[in-house]
Amino acid sequence: MSVVPVPTRLEADDTAVATQLDAATRPDSTLARMRDDGRVQCIACAHRCVIPPGRRGACKVRFNRDGLLHVPWGYAGSLQINPIEQAPFMHAHAGEDVLTLGMLGCNLRCSYCQNWHLSQVLRDVEAPERPTAVSAEEIVATAHGRGIRVLLSSLNEPLITAEWAVELFARAKAAGMTTGIVSSGYATPEVLDFLRPHVDLVKIDLKTLSPQRYRSLGAHLQPVLDTLRMVAERGFWLELVTLVVPGWNDSEDELRGAARAIASVSPDIPWTLWNFHRDYRMRGGSDAGAADVVRAASIGRAEGLRYTYAGVQPGRVGDFENTRCPGCGTAVVERMGYQVTGYALDAAGQCAACATRVPGRWSPQGAVVRPAGLWFERQPQRFV
Ligand code: SF4
Repeated sequence: MSVVPVPTRLEADDTAVATQLDAATRPDSTLARMRDDGRVQCIACAHRCVIPPGRRGACKVRFNRDGLLHVPWGYAGSLQINPIEQAPFMHAHAGEDVLTLGMLGCNLRCSYCQNWHLSQVLRDVEAPERPTAVSAEEIVATAHGRGIRVLLSSLNEPLITAEWAVELFARAKAAGMTTGIVSSGYATPEVLDFLRPHVDLVKIDLKTLSPQRYRSLGAHLQPVLDTLRMVAERGFWLELVTLVVPGWNDSEDELRGAARAIASVSPDIPWTLWNFHRDYRMRGGSDAGAADVVRAASIGRAEGLRYTYAGVQPGRVGDFENTRCPGCGTAVVERMGYQVTGYALDAAGQCAACATRVPGRWSPQGAVVRPAGLWFERQPQRFV
């Protein structure tokens, strides 16, 4: 057990949003271990909170009422259509629009969170988002009716709503869709085993390689590194992203260490280095620019990773937006920001020039290719 946080009393969270979120739950023992004394251990994330009756876990959205673990159910904090490259997945369903579900709350508390309006609603009275009741059928129908083939749980931490995600994903997969999560990777083997039959894609946000800085975010480094290996071993399609924060996580030593940690799992894991912009409670320092993310992506390449990407700086990062065939070097996916502008893989994900397979979960129907210059027109379309 990595952490037993001091939970907040349910009655101390008597705010309107807490009342709404507490109502949008159901008792569920799938990811719970009951104790004889009425406490419940939640195993949905690596905090492994042991929660007495009337108290919350560290994420605040899961709680113990009368000896039963209550988990989020039946709502969305946000439901929107985005390019899959915005997730970012770079080796899956290239160029497609995906339906992205965001819930409320988080098991971490990152001071630079770019989705704090969703993730911090129970910690920060300024966070404005609220739950909207919606059924799993309605969410899948929303995707299906628009010809969308990928459903993602993202924007906040999906593990803290794993049971609801499985309810959605089971229906989505029955409808022939691909499913995925975008997570901080603070997982347990139990939650990964639970998700595995229903989830195809996993994106992990590796925030830093510093144990000390992970603690400042409310977590520990080692469980995240363990998660990389556990996800790969279980056969999910795994990609990584790191937000490059100047002066915080971008020293050469740290980036080299992160690249080595990823490459030790597999050199075929794509790693996207994204540019930080000042947000939420991290307003000092400077934004990262194209040179910062190119430098980070170059370090990843030098450490043996075959696929590193620099974003989001359309047209300013050279070849670090593109995917090259590991066999002959052909640019098999060309991009401009979130836009795919050229595609040279066959239905099996093989290079059109030399037939080398490029790892990923490419759509057998090919990519959605759009002309360069239209990338800015694909703004998220939000339903909830
Ligand atoms: S999901 Fe929430 S309650 Fe469960 S272990 Fe993680 S922080 Fe604790």
